[in-house]
Parts: sequence; structure tokens; C-alpha cells
Amino acid sequence: MTKTIVIKGGTIVNRASEQALDLKIENGLVAQVGKNLKGDVQLDASGCIVASGFVDLHAHLREPGQEEAETIETGSRAGALGGYTALVAMPNTDPPQDSVAVIDFVREQGKRAGLVDVVPSGCITLGRQGESLAPMAELSAAGVSLFTDDGSGVQDASLMRRALEYAKGLGVTLAQHCEVAELTKGAVMNECQCCTNLGLPGWPAIAEELMVFRDIELVRITGAAMHFLHLSTKRSVELVRAAKRDGLPVTAEVTPHHLSLTEELLASFDPVFKVNPPLRSMHDIAALKAGLIDGTIDAIATDHAPHPRRDKEMSLDMAPPGMLGLETALGVVLAEGACEVRDVVALMSWNPAKIARIDDRHGLDLVAGAVANICVFDPEIKWTIDPERMVSKSINTPYVGRNLQGRVRHTIFNGATTVVDGQAQR
Ligand SMILES: [Zn+2]
Repeated sequence: MTKTIVIKGGTIVNRASEQALDLKIENGLVAQVGKNLKGDVQLDASGCIVASGFVDLHAHLREPGQEEAETIETGSRAGALGGYTALVAMPNTDPPQDSVAVIDFVREQGKRAGLVDVVPSGCITLGRQGESLAPMAELSAAGVSLFTDDGSGVQDASLMRRALEYAKGLGVTLAQHCEVAELTKGAVMNECQCCTNLGLPGWPAIAEELMVFRDIELVRITGAAMHFLHLSTKRSVELVRAAKRDGLPVTAEVTPHHLSLTEELLASFDPVFKVNPPLRSMHDIAALKAGLIDGTIDAIATDHAPHPRRDKEMSLDMAPPGMLGLETALGVVLAEGACEVRDVVALMSWNPAKIARIDDRHGLDLVAGAVANICVFDPEIKWTIDPERMVSKSINTPYVGRNLQGRVRHTIFNGATTVVDGQAQR
């Protein structure tokens, strides 16, 4: 007999309802929603939202190849603490995720850790070299439904067009890291007045926007589904808004850091603030937030990018870009007050589950019969992070000392607790 779990005293947020009810879990599924439920294990959820578990479309788990920064297990644990029940693993591993062998390895390591669903993305091009297509049909047959060369964008427009044509036939989605490489050589931070003052090479907004524009037009002629990763500029949001108005099958994400941090932070020369695409201006942040509210932006994704300490101790120009995200995403997003709690659930669970095509088991309404992938969080609680207590293998978070709001209390993955009272269970 498996133990039954009852989540007591919270507010269950579903698409069409918000109800103060208990929720009972049995055999991996939601067994019952109702009043005064009893079970073998009781989880207190007073003051909390009970919603479907979060789905991150953008996690760099670093395994295989850079286990010093993160492993699939440590990344999964960080995800569980952040309320996630599924993570899409980015393909810029070593070797990259361009073969069935590597895809199977990543998925198996995910199962072994057993803390979240690890959903491997596949490369668009072989070795992420941008020269020839990865075996997309084979990878699709192995269960890959999201393809990306993230870390870099596919520069060759003709290759990208061909990839979209294949994607259309296979019924998969391509996800682009939008960056025209010629425009960002040596770039360290956003191209702006402050980068000129600091004497640092700038990463211009147009390097992103040109590729967003190009890919929207390629979607228009191919009809394939396209997801835009970590959009960071005002004009990118406008382009996607217009594409959606035209009925094109495009979706987009933003990161918590692009919603909360600005370019001026680079004046500290601290590499913890170096990220790709770079932190932008208040102007861009306002546009990204407007995009969240009007539905132009579909998802909040972390771009969780762990780096070992010594890599982030290099000088600003040498240090690799990227920052941690999984354990702080909810706290950053709610602290920003960019949207309502219900929108946060849509942006961090319902919509990304659909984009990743895992909405048969994630991002579900919590009703009897649904797979029990659940996040219970207190949307009001204020907290600051304790770097010593973070479970990621790396420590490159920019949020030390910052006030966050909203914290995960419990996470349930496939009917089993992975986090109870803010503590990882395994
Ligand atoms: Zn990227």
C-alpha cells in the first residue's frame, strides 16, 4: 500500500477556479479534492497556493561534460526546491545533445535522480556548429519535441529554413537563442550609454531583434512552430506581438533576471551580472512586463546557467555568461510584482508544459485523476537567499542580499514529495 498524502488548507488554483480545498494524492494521482480530507501524510498549506508544478523551458544542467558546475541530480534538486516538476535540459553539453545516445543518457540520469522530469531538448545542428542539421527525425522518434542550439543561434538562414521545414513535418518545435553573432563579437554588456562610459564592448539590441524578425518571417513561409528563448528587448516583444496578431505559431519566454536586473549593475564589473543576452534597460523591462500581461510572452523560463566558482572569478571580459535561476525564479518574479499569482502559474506551469509538449502530465488542472505534479507556495512570504543553503553545485547567483517574495513550501513529483517545508527530501 502506498501512503496517501493530503495537502491541507491551501487554495487550489486551476484554470477556471480558485478554491480553498484540501487535495488528496494516492498512487501518483490526485485522488480527491474536497473538505476535511485525511491521509497518511499531511502537508500544511495554510496561506499557500496549490498549483500544478512548474515547468522550466530553459535549464542548463551541464551533464554530460561539466559536472563540476552542475549535475542532472543537483540541478533536479535545485528545480524541486524552486517548485519545478519538469525541466527542459538545454543541449549545450559536452558531448552536445545531438544524438539518441546522449538524449537517452540525459533522460536516464533524470530518472535516476527521480526529482523532476528531465526533458532533453535536441540540437538543431550537428554539434551546435550551425553547419548541417542534426538527425532531427531520429531524435524526434526518440521523444525529443523541442530543438535548439541554445548557447548560440542558428546563423545560416537557409539552414534555419530547412530545419523549420523538417520541424513542420515532424510536428516538433524549434527554439531559438536570437543572436546575430557578427554583431556581438567580444560583447560584454548591453550596448548603451553606460557601456560606452565603462569602455566595455556592447551587445546591441538589434543583434537579437534581427534574428527574431528573420525567424518570424521563416515561420510565415514554413508554418512551423517556433519558440523564442529569453527575449530581452522592447522591439523583440513588439515583433512577437505583431507575429501573434498575424496568427503565426510563435511563442516566447523571458527570464526572471531580465525582468528584475538592469545594465547599470555591470558598473560593478562583477561577472555574476554577465549573462547572454545581457541585462538591458528599465525601458526594456517595462516592455517585457507589458508582454507578460497581454499574452505576448507565454512563459517565464530560468536560463539556469551554473558555472564553477573559478570561471566566475575571471575578469568581466573573460568570464562565461550565465547565472543560477531555479531556486529563486518564483521569489524574483513575485517580488517584481509584474503579474498576478494566477498569471505566474500560467507563465511558469500551464503554458510552458504545453510548449514543451508534456501537458499530458504537467501543467494540469488539479482534479481527480490528474498526475500529481504539484507546487505549493506561499505567495506573500518575504525572504532572502542563503547561499550556503542553496543546493545547486554552483553559487553564481546575482540575488544575494536582495529581497524576494514568494517561496515554495512543498513540491510533489509524480505523487511523491520532493520538497517538504522548504527542505529537499532526497
Ligand atoms: Zn541562450
